[in-house]
Amino acid sequence: MIEMKTRQELTTWIKKQKQLGYTIGFVPTMGFLHEGHLSLVEQAKKKADIVVMSIFVNPLQFGEGEDYESYPRDHDRDKELADSHGVDVLFSPGVEEMYPRSMSTTLVVHEGTDVLCGQSRPGHFNGVATVVLKLLQITLADYAYFGLKDAQQVAIIQRMVEDFHLETEIIPIDIVRESDGLAKSSRNVNLNLEERQEAPEIYTCLKDASRKTQNEEFTNSTDLEDWVRLQLQKKLTGKIDYVQVLEFPSLKAPKQLEGKILLATAVYYKRARLIDNIVIEIKG
Ligand code: AMP
Repeated sequence: MIEMKTRQELTTWIKKQKQLGYTIGFVPTMGFLHEGHLSLVEQAKKKADIVVMSIFVNPLQFGEGEDYESYPRDHDRDKELADSHGVDVLFSPGVEEMYPRSMSTTLVVHEGTDVLCGQSRPGHFNGVATVVLKLLQITLADYAYFGLKDAQQVAIIQRMVEDFHLETEIIPIDIVRESDGLAKSSRNVNLNLEERQEAPEIYTCLKDASRKTQNEEFTNSTDLEDWVRLQLQKKLTGKIDYVQVLEFPSLKAPKQLEGKILLATAVYYKRARLIDNIVIEIKG
């Protein structure tokens, strides 16, 4: 694996590879790698000739009082994991490299930001869209891999790619979970023992809700949301940020529980905010 820290080095190298006819699969991350990230690499390796992973904790997508400073980081460990899982190029720029001066132009995401994490993290998706656009420009990726754990991010990035006529194909990848069902996340290390023990209840509850929805036990999305909120309140000490049901990938409020429905939740713990979701396919 080669590690590169500058845009110029990476783009020059990639242009050469593309001239030779190789395709580029790109996996953007904020590091502190786990099997969720590595499953994106695995899928990229299946389709693309060269796999580029970026590790960059993007200050632009963190709001005031959020966990930019305490976001877990371990570059040496990440490097070893990326290398042993077949990443060809690791792009690990510093903040100065990605933002050499203040940005005169940034992206503003207009749709799908008044729901889910967009509601509780104002400006977050503007920061995400801006950095992803920069990274796609730098990597010239043919394919870019995003986890469905961040389902709203997948929907928003897909729209950005369409809006700007980018040539990168966005490939969504299923959520990877711990054996007890907790969605893998870099932030899980910031849970205390008690929080870690109860956190798998989040997915148990989403699965139960999915089964009940399939069995037509809810007549509308509000009933479904209320049921999930009540279950989570009973089982968790964490504070529920939201429980929301939306059409996916449009992120619009569903008129009926029909088609592809995203049931998503976020829970605040002392030092971590966890998100999880399930996509329920309902035949009309
Ligand atoms: P992050 O480093 O948290 O920004 O995540 C980088 C990418 O990995 C994003 O596309 C995430 O959606 C994806 N990802 C994170 N956790 C998981 C997971 N448990 N399963 C699948 N993808 C994940």
